[in-house]
Amino acid sequence: MSIQQLSETIINQIAAGEVIERPASVVKELVENALDAGASRVEVATAGGGLTLIRVTDNGGGIPMDQLALAVSRHCTSKLSGGIDAIRTLGFRGEALPSIGSVARLCLRSRTQEADAAAEIAVDGGRVGRVKPIAANPGTTVEVRDLFFATPARLKFMKSTRTEAAAIADVIRRVALAFPEVRFTLSGTDRSTFDLPAVTADGDGLLRRLGQVLSKDFPENALPIDADREGISLTGYVSIPSFSRGNALHQFAYINGRPVRDKLIGSAIRSAYMDVLPRDRHAVTALFLSLDPALVDVNVHPAKADVRFRDPGLVRGLIVGAIRQALDSTGMRAATTSGTAMLASFRTPQNGFDNASSYGNYGTGRYDGGWSASSSPSRPLEEAVAPAGFAEGRQAAFDMGGAATSADARASVSEYAQDVVRHPLGAARAQLHENYIVAQTEDSLVIVDQHAAHERLVYEALKKAIHARPLPSQMLLMPEIVNLPEEDADRLASHAEFFVGLGLRLERFGPGAVAVRETPAILGETDAVALVCDLADEIAEHDTADSLRERIDRIAATMACHGSVRSGRRLKPEEMNALLRQMEATPGSGTCNHGRPTYIELKLADIERLFGRR
Ligand code: ADP
Ligand code: MG
Repeated sequence: MSIQQLSETIINQIAAGEVIERPASVVKELVENALDAGASRVEVATAGGGLTLIRVTDNGGGIPMDQLALAVSRHCTSKLSGGIDAIRTLGFRGEALPSIGSVARLCLRSRTQEADAAAEIAVDGGRVGRVKPIAANPGTTVEVRDLFFATPARLKFMKSTRTEAAAIADVIRRVALAFPEVRFTLSGTDRSTFDLPAVTADGDGLLRRLGQVLSKDFPENALPIDADREGISLTGYVSIPSFSRGNALHQFAYINGRPVRDKLIGSAIRSAYMDVLPRDRHAVTALFLSLDPALVDVNVHPAKADVRFRDPGLVRGLIVGAIRQALDSTGMRAATTSGTAMLASFRTPQNGFDNASSYGNYGTGRYDGGWSASSSPSRPLEEAVAPAGFAEGRQAAFDMGGAATSADARASVSEYAQDVVRHPLGAARAQLHENYIVAQTEDSLVIVDQHAAHERLVYEALKKAIHARPLPSQMLLMPEIVNLPEEDADRLASHAEFFVGLGLRLERFGPGAVAVRETPAILGETDAVALVCDLADEIAEHDTADSLRERIDRIAATMACHGSVRSGRRLKPEEMNALLRQMEATPGSGTCNHGRPTYIELKLADIERLFGRR
């Protein structure tokens, strides 16, 4: 067979195979074009999950009539004047419109802000029509009908209308987080529709947009992130640990305003939350990196969602450091959703006091394990009004006078009590159900889950001890020889000194091998080969060897779990107060090692509202 030049349409259809995977990809490309054109309003309408119709209208700069034909031609773009290393726009490849036009029926209508008339051009399965004048407002409308009619093979792979419509909504939400000052609407006959009014472009606006897009509870459970390192800046918001999700779909990342999906960012987030979230829970995050476009390659894949950083270790370190710092600074902040939901539950009169089941599924801050109606910290309160509760109340309740140990001390008791309530977690007043410490602060009532709190304190102490000095190692009777690719052996050898501090001793053993002589004692009998291979992978991917540290921290967490006060142990008042003071002094003590809150706080004002006093 002779070699032939492919037709323009086939070339565009090949490109479409990569760029236009499904209706949501069309929406992504068209919305990006609208944003690149400086629009402050982007309206999307769809039908049939986007397969029947997608229409995107914007009020941006528009396209001059004499350039409409170019806009739908392959490799024509107005965005690459600064070269491939200086990309600040979302688009740059000049292939979206021609690709879409080659697989669907596309109609592009546009009018620049200055022009007094609009014009349109149609592309139908690759056949380009003539430019015609029409009447329209300034801005651009792109209409795409019968997507993939020209490529039936692709059409077969479409999921249900509803799934495709949901993917479209996701794409718009995702990009909307990076442009809070733009109003986005989604309408049409598909089910998921919304209107995201414009807010300000600053941090407050972003927080409001996050509330619109993620959940209205997010803003009050979010921590601001603001850090920079070597010219790379990181801003955004991350959730407090107790506001977590069962998957990572609520982690949004942007590089210079471009939504990206990046393994490195995901793994940095996991690492930052490692101490406060169990492996199967995921933080909610919106992180915005901004850096010199020359330091990141966005031209990795036609869909432009993959990136490569010039210095991945720097980016990872920046993210992990900034999130950890934000988490530490909150000290003991617990999720407000629990308190709010509890109040709501109390306040629903028709539900009365036996409404325990309503705790089961509130909000997004719920915890799938262990935060059920029966273990809800609000139960002891409820039961305190029942006869059984009274008996226990008598036994456990005490005042600070009773807590004083000698008659001399009694004189200063009231002063002491005054002092204690000023602490953030207040003065312990009672222990209920042998696990819940009820404490009083100046303006609230605090309920502490004693087991969870203690576990957290032990863990923090263990970790500190572990990282403060070189970890003990355990000598292997016979060195373990691990064969692996030469580059991996090199990488491991270059981190050898770091490993020694963690109790792992290894050295080069000829080409393509390392010898492991000692392993961290805390890991016990461990598979040295698997450990070393994992470490090599990790260094290759992220240029750090954090996973060894993580493994060791996980062991510490397990030990803490065994070593802590089980619920069911009665504490003396001074023990309870000591626990409260220790919690206040320990960063991260607002959640247990599994990310559940260790205490909840009910403001006096809210309690008064419950009783109709306000
Ligand atoms: P790219 O966005 O990579 O440049 P596209 O095929 O998506 O490629 O668009 C081609 C060109 O058409 C853009 O460079 C831009 O000049 C113009 N264009 C497309 N959509 C719009 C729009 N909504 N408003 C203004 N100009 C647009
Ligand atoms: Mg584009």
